[in-house]
Amino acid sequence: MKIAPSSCASSGSGRKKLGSGSSCEHNGEEIKCYCGDKCPMWTTWKNTENLGRRLIGCPNYKTKPCGFLKWIDEPMSKRARFLINKLKMRNDELHKLNANNEVDAIRELKTEMKEMQK
Ligand SMILES: [Zn+2]
Repeated sequence: MKIAPSSCASSGSGRKKLGSGSSCEHNGEEIKCYCGDKCPMWTTWKNTENLGRRLIGCPNYKTKPCGFLKWIDEPMSKRARFLINKLKMRNDELHKLNANNEVDAIRELKTEMKEMQK
């Protein structure tokens, strides 16, 4: 008995649909948008109903997007989004604290170095 290499193969009919892409194109394969460019994968961190979902989309979205966009993950539950957002905000705060500490640390280092050059 052969095991299908892709776990996404729809059970039942073995017919391949033409036109509409399968939902498992991202598995190990490069996906190109309509521009012909390789599409990167993003995670949405905006606090919308898509929070935490991964998607692949046109890399030229800032300049001339072709409109190619594909969601990889199913939408999260309200609870999951709430938790992700909470963790993200906490993470942002930590980053800010770290950044401030770094600035202070760099300042201290610089004054130390100046004093050493005297
Ligand atoms: Zn494109």
